[in-house]
Amino acid sequence: METCNWDYAIFWKEAINQIQNSITDQEFQMWFNNMNYIESREAQIIISVPSSFYKDQVTQRYLSVIEGKLMELSGQKISIEFIIKNNRSPAPGKKQQHSKPIKPASVKKRKHPQLNSEYNFERFVRGENNDFAYMASFAMAKNPGKAYNPCLIYGGVGLGKTHLLQAIGNTVYQDFPELKIVYVTAETFTNEFILAIKENKGHQFKNRYRTVDVLLIDDVHFLPGKVETQEELFHTFNALYDANKQLVFTCDRPVSELKALSDRLRSRFERGLNVDLQPPNYETRLAILKKKIEERKIFINDAVADLICQNIKTNVRDLEKALTKLIAYAELVDKEISIDIAQRQLKDFFSNHQGRNVSLELIQKVVAEYFGLSSVDIRGKKRTKAIVYPRQIAMYITRDITEFSTTEVGLAFGGRDHTTVMHACQRIEDRMKTDPMLEPTIQNLIRNIKEASL
Ligand code: ADP
Ligand code: MG
Repeated sequence: METCNWDYAIFWKEAINQIQNSITDQEFQMWFNNMNYIESREAQIIISVPSSFYKDQVTQRYLSVIEGKLMELSGQKISIEFIIKNNRSPAPGKKQQHSKPIKPASVKKRKHPQLNSEYNFERFVRGENNDFAYMASFAMAKNPGKAYNPCLIYGGVGLGKTHLLQAIGNTVYQDFPELKIVYVTAETFTNEFILAIKENKGHQFKNRYRTVDVLLIDDVHFLPGKVETQEELFHTFNALYDANKQLVFTCDRPVSELKALSDRLRSRFERGLNVDLQPPNYETRLAILKKKIEERKIFINDAVADLICQNIKTNVRDLEKALTKLIAYAELVDKEISIDIAQRQLKDFFSNHQGRNVSLELIQKVVAEYFGLSSVDIRGKKRTKAIVYPRQIAMYITRDITEFSTTEVGLAFGGRDHTTVMHACQRIEDRMKTDPMLEPTIQNLIRNIKEASL
């Protein structure tokens, strides 16, 4: 199986990202900012560094770490060769290949019956929150069955999972007309399966799913508890995987957090690449909003765009909803949107998203349940490690999504002092810097809390 150069650039980028999280900023700037990706050869990545001093130092300090990471990410041994090059810009044409989205070559687009053609790569705005997922998706679309297989994209609601998954489908559909692509939500897959069994058409069902070249299953978090469907998917997975067919899944949380999922299906999802989508930062939110404004061919001034992005931090879907509401209003009154109008029109929207509706009790309950504790434990006096950590997370979340003061939070958590709350929040923030799983866990909890508060 041939792997194209493009793949290694992605591995390189992700390896560097992960290493960045484990070393100080200063160290990173000193050494890694001076490395440039040049190109990939078979099982090798060529990186330029500015001098032989750098080459010796980075070889000594980081070579084994980088190669270890690459092994972890790609499942194969990829070695690094450092070459000395004073010019900091990479070889012409090379870097562009992976830093810019490439437009599909086809002029006339075909439309796949199960896919929304608007979900394509051109319309997907890249930011640091989604870049790896974007690049991995793009690589899969260009090398179905070869680049990464299987792949699971996970992240909270409205962050672009369906968009990327369908973009893969749409792109393959344009570029490889001979391939059979099936996009399905896990829910539809389940319903079709149940119906097939009921109507004695199990055979047809198997035929339909085991003859595809690219299988895209959205929202696999729907599967827990569905024992027979899991079993069927497990066999479908194996059949396709053995035949080198492309499998891509999405999920609203890391697979490790899905309960009531069979171990063997879980291990299939965890095989291959698991990439996450995080909530976008302000800069990316603004870029996304501006793109949506442009696409809708309307005018919204910068101050209003800023107001929306400052206030809506949750996800892209909420940004879109806010924009739709403003456009509808502007059309109705035939007037340009001013800051005042935007403030008024989006008032409920903003306050809702600041979590005013969220009660302290609910936060305690959701966090406690997640850690297998009771709300009483979370509020109580016990100071065992198994309770202190979840309690600190609950305090952190409370400060993050509500407007309660540290004093109020302290009171609600067993009459603790406000300095304890401040300390707890600091601890969690520190820990997030070293534990890459903590932030997704917290985002996941926040989402559950918000859903439960509606
Ligand atoms: P999910 O499946 O993760 O819940 P979706 O893929 O349905 O989220 O995305 C929600 C909406 O936000 C869609 O309309 C999608 O096109 C849009 N969207 C999400 N991420 C981006 C992005 N990075 N750039 C542009 N639009 C985006
Ligand atoms: Mg979706």
